[in-house]
Amino acid sequence: VTPRLFTPGPLTTDRRVREAMQRDWGSRDADFIALTAELRTRLLGVVPGAAERHVAVPIQGAGSYALEAAVATLVGPEHRLLVLVNGAYGRRMDEIARRMGRSVAAIDWREDEAVDPARVASALADDAAITHVAIVQCETTTGLLNPVDKVAHVVAEAGRVLIVDAMSGFGALPLGLGDRRIGAILASSNKCLEGPPGIAFALVERDLLAAAKGRSPSLALDLHDQARGFETNGQWRFTPPMQVVAGLVEALRLHEAEGGSEARLARYEGFYEVLRLGMQRLGYPLYLDPSLQAPIIATFRPRPGRPFDFARLHAHLAQDGLLIYPGKLTTEVTFRIGCIGALTDSDFDDLLESVASYDVRTHGVAEL
Ligand SMILES: *Cc1c(COP(=O)(O)O)cnc(C)c1O
Repeated sequence: VTPRLFTPGPLTTDRRVREAMQRDWGSRDADFIALTAELRTRLLGVVPGAAERHVAVPIQGAGSYALEAAVATLVGPEHRLLVLVNGAYGRRMDEIARRMGRSVAAIDWREDEAVDPARVASALADDAAITHVAIVQCETTTGLLNPVDKVAHVVAEAGRVLIVDAMSGFGALPLGLGDRRIGAILASSNKCLEGPPGIAFALVERDLLAAAKGRSPSLALDLHDQARGFETNGQWRFTPPMQVVAGLVEALRLHEAEGGSEARLARYEGFYEVLRLGMQRLGYPLYLDPSLQAPIIATFRPRPGRPFDFARLHAHLAQDGLLIYPGKLTTEVTFRIGCIGALTDSDFDDLLESVASYDVRTHGVAEL
């Protein structure tokens, strides 16, 4: 049986997405050029208002390739990047910029605390050298939702450029572009868009991209040159993952057919509710304050006073074809269950039943 993935991506895909990947494409043929154009148009279409000022630049690779390409292309040696960190992905952005030799500052919060826009405002007031700010919308380490809209307001007021790692929520969580300016929005194919893994992308403001010619120290990770490739002949500069493009375009068609990001978020909220109530019944506490938890991936603590072994729980669920992730926290034992993907409420019922049977097997009793 195909496993069901309760992970924050790669995740469970729709059969139609997998079927769209069953053929070969000539990477420089008209059919594939049209498919690439559809991909870029649809990616922009996911964020209301993006089509006016932004350019969609897909790039081959995992999501981190877009993070790295964005830092390389948008943050120059004359700039300074402020990274807002409350989990592993904020830390990753910080590391990317440091390795590239860019000037970086970071503000750290605890992993169970949201980014505080007031602290960002005062950091910007105190350090005039800062030109760019990077934030993670949904910190997948825990599933915490950061206040991107408020931070975007603060950053725009201070006249700096905001870069949003919107990886885990793109296609479901609202981004609040509207009258806000977000310089670059970064995401990938295999999260809330429910596509196959293999493509990362950036939606970048046109003027920022135009000003970035020749800045990237990397040939492959250069969003300016990558965009110019698409705009000159409609082609990818280097070998495109054709089947992944086809799968992602199909996934974007399904996203639209479902009713776009709002409908998708509503479906995920439904999953999260089934999961949260079920796990509560079984005695597993939610790690975050519920007001901070996004319905993307939920972090749970072991049952108080009971022994817990993630490897055994994981193996037990895997026997039923149900896959979950370990925790990613530096400080505490936790585990994570994704609420996204081409699943249904009854898949979550199956998962809860399997967790309950694990509890019975290991402790002789479920908390039910
Ligand atoms: C998934 C994810 C990434 C990218 O991870 P990859 O393994 O490189 O695809 C970056 N940021 C966040 C918040 C993510 O959830």
